[in-house]
This record gives sequence, structure tokens and C-alpha cells, in this order.
Amino acid sequence: MRITFLGVRGSTPSPSEANRRYGGNTSSVVLERPGADPIILDLGTGMRAWGLSQPLDGSFRGTALVTHLHWDHIQGLPFFAPVDRPGAQLDVFAPEQDEGTLPEAIGNFMRPPFFPVHYSQLRGDIRLHAIWDNDFEVGGAKVKVRPVPHCGPTVGYRVDWEGSSVAYISDHQAPLGLDSVAASVLELCDGVDLVIHDAQFTPAEFVQKAHWGHCTMEYAALVAHEAGARRLCLFHHDPAHSDEDLDRLHAEVRDTARRWGLDEVIGAREGLQLQL
Ligand SMILES: [Zn+2]
Ligand SMILES: [Zn+2]
Repeated sequence: MRITFLGVRGSTPSPSEANRRYGGNTSSVVLERPGADPIILDLGTGMRAWGLSQPLDGSFRGTALVTHLHWDHIQGLPFFAPVDRPGAQLDVFAPEQDEGTLPEAIGNFMRPPFFPVHYSQLRGDIRLHAIWDNDFEVGGAKVKVRPVPHCGPTVGYRVDWEGSSVAYISDHQAPLGLDSVAASVLELCDGVDLVIHDAQFTPAEFVQKAHWGHCTMEYAALVAHEAGARRLCLFHHDPAHSDEDLDRLHAEVRDTARRWGLDEVIGAREGLQLQL
């Protein structure tokens, strides 16, 4: 499968001269397989431009696997042109909410006065599916969903297809000691070919923001190491981290990861494509 990073930033869109190379769009990744409809991991602002390369005649079919409903993971949906065409169809899987249903939650986000129309008024069909701890199939790919520690209902995904596998853990609250990994996360990442993981903070930032729902870059390497994964992709970059910051910080993580036996540590950037 081909993996394309459409948006790699956490929290909020943050384009600037200082982060041109990694990019400022928020979390969205697309998995493409020959003969199958695309699987989109999160609906951040990065998906908007990619949408313009997709069928705009109503023939679009796709599946979105959404980790949680924070803005940075859904804000691209209102601007995703392929689904605003009669006949188009997007299946969106996202976690059950603590209060109200998933359609109510999405409907509260995408409606006037925040957006000109309610999501159900787009000309295509957005079909919502609440999930939490499920295994299901999408176009021949096996999808595993498990809860991930964060702020509010949040899940991670693992996608297996024809012997290749990827785990997507976009937002992950590490324990304060940064020394253990939740069993649900290890299950998702177990022996996977590629882990795409939250890499928001430096150790010093984590001390300041320990309860903000994220982790350090080195913790992402710990997750991959503990799960026996081979490659790690550092993702969900902090809006304050410039290209130069990320180059330097990722090099430090590579040193640690090498000692732990990981094959490769990649810094996610917009437009990066990986083949599994
Ligand atoms: Zn996020
Ligand atoms: Zn979040």
C-alpha cells in the first residue's frame, strides 16, 4: 500500500516560512491500494488539497478512520470537495462520544453559524459509524480499533493488507514517567511494519504540558521498540516547532532508536510517500 502524508501538524494549522518543508496542515494521511477505494486516516486540513485530485463527478468512494473529534483531526471535512457531489460517498468511522451520538457531535461542529451548512446538506453522502474497540474490514483490508489515552474519547488504528501493516496513533497521552505503554497501544503496534505516532513534545515541553494529551518524540520510539515495530514515523508536530527544530530533534531520537534496534525513524512531512 502507498501511504501519503497530507498534513502532519498537531493542534492547529500553522503554515509559516519557518516550517515550509514539514508543512503546516493538520493531521491527515491517505492509504491507497491498487483497485481499492482510499482509506483516509483523520480529516485534518491536509486533506483539502488532496481532495482536488480525486473524482469530482460524484463517483468518489472512500473511508475515513478518525481518531477523535478535536479540531485538528476533522477540520478538513467541510472543505473536502469530492463529497460535495451528488452520488459521492464517504464512510467515516470515529469514536463513540461520552455525551450524545456521533452524528450529533459532527452536526454540532459542521453547522451554522460555524459553517454555512449542516454536514448532512452536502450533496454527497457522509455515513457515520461509531466505533470504540472493534475489528472490521474495509475493501479487503483488516482494520483494528483500540482506545488510546488522550483527552476525551480517542482511538488508534491498525490496518493490515496483503502482508503489510501500519499503526496510526496520532495523539497519545504518555504516563507522567514516560516509562510504560498502554496494552491497547501495544496491541495496535505489535510487530507492525510502520508506526505513525504522536511526536509533539520535547522532554522540557512535556514537563510543562504533561496533561495536554501528548508525549515526547522519544516516547514514540519507546512505543515502537516495546511493540517490536521496525519503522517509526514521527507525526503530529507541535505548531511551534520549525523545520530546523524538527531536523535537530528527530536526529536525537534516531540516536536513541538506533540503540533500541529500530530500523528507521522518519520525520513525517507533507507530501511524503512511503510504500509498504
Ligand atoms: Zn491532535
Ligand atoms: Zn487531540
